[in-house]
Amino acid sequence: MEKLAIFGGPRVRETQIYYGRQWIDEDDIRAVEDTLRGRLITCGPQVEELEKKLCQVTQAKYAVAVSNGTAALHTACMAIGIQPGDEVITTPMTFAASANCVRYCGGTVVFADIDPETYNIDPDEIEKKITPRTKAVIAVDFTGQAVEHDRIREICDRHGLYFIEDAAHSIGTKYNGRPVGSLADITCFSFHPVKTVTSGEGGAVTTNNEDLYRKLVLFHTHGITHDQEWMQKPSEGHWYYEQIDLGYNYRMTDFQAALLMSQLNKLDKFSRRRHEIVRYYNEQLGDVKELVLQKEIPESDTTRHLYIIQLNLEMLNCTRREFFDAMSEEYVCPQVHYIPVYYFPYYQKLGYQKGLCPNAERLYERVMSIPLYPAMTEQDQQDVVTAIKKIIDWYKKG
Ligand SMILES: *Cc1c(COP(=O)(O)O)cnc(C)c1O
Repeated sequence: MEKLAIFGGPRVRETQIYYGRQWIDEDDIRAVEDTLRGRLITCGPQVEELEKKLCQVTQAKYAVAVSNGTAALHTACMAIGIQPGDEVITTPMTFAASANCVRYCGGTVVFADIDPETYNIDPDEIEKKITPRTKAVIAVDFTGQAVEHDRIREICDRHGLYFIEDAAHSIGTKYNGRPVGSLADITCFSFHPVKTVTSGEGGAVTTNNEDLYRKLVLFHTHGITHDQEWMQKPSEGHWYYEQIDLGYNYRMTDFQAALLMSQLNKLDKFSRRRHEIVRYYNEQLGDVKELVLQKEIPESDTTRHLYIIQLNLEMLNCTRREFFDAMSEEYVCPQVHYIPVYYFPYYQKLGYQKGLCPNAERLYERVMSIPLYPAMTEQDQQDVVTAIKKIIDWYKKG
């Protein structure tokens, strides 16, 4: 048995790889450079073009580019009018922003547990958490796998709730053949460098509803309108505009928009690479009884953002922490997605307690995300599998 690097043995590889990283090529650099040489570097033609392109990619009627994924979620909550007293149901197995956006509006976050196999929010748990104050569901396509749209849509329609999709992980994913972005009432994207396509920082909201679209436009730029129809006073001239509500500056710059358009031209390629790597991991790890892999639902054609291994701790003589540290020492550096949101001191102070969502809590104890990004070489992928199997061999029981 080969000694683990953490105990002084040889490492599986010489350089560290991480769970994700961006792919930037010469086309991307040229797109940014061209925009920087132009007259407008914000509020210019690139953002407009990008919004059209996002509509093509997602098949949504309307798209608004914003400064990041958190801004996308906040703008969505403002557009549907979340206020103090309103409850919004979301998953604890997500990045904090999926819940924080409700808090920005003074709303109450209600956590519904996940399905223990798909790791996405469980529609039955959503239904249990609905009260007369519930206004919306924010469902997260965790790891890129689409949530159960048919069931969540039906629940939202029956109870008169808005369905917001946090699609930070899932651009390029389809549900029953339809792209994410065209399905929920509002879909929120993030283009942080670790996500499938990037603009450095960046985000977008998409919708098919014209009224929601106009509100998204309004709130992402100060609550200011140039639209005669919405103005309350007669125009005083060509310069005239009105602030009719309290919004923010959540605009994206033109050079970021140019970068994102160039990235979106590669989305099919990125998606194909991610599919290939997922297939390789599934083949190599599917039969390893010390691991549990995420269940894939047939409705979702998933452009996977994260590949998660769940440790079958009953069959291993180690903790998740020991396994994680051993991986890092082999220079295959994992990450954990996610700490249940209500474990954070901010949420604990609001009164949320451990035990609220047992499936999410159990998952958190056992998971780590292994490297998955399009620029991985075959050697990188093999090293990931070698490191996992080496550590399992060391710690397995019996
Ligand atoms: C990344 C992420 C966000 C936030 O996006 P930013 O662009 O970093 O603000 C929100 N929700 C989820 C699930 C994410 O992974």
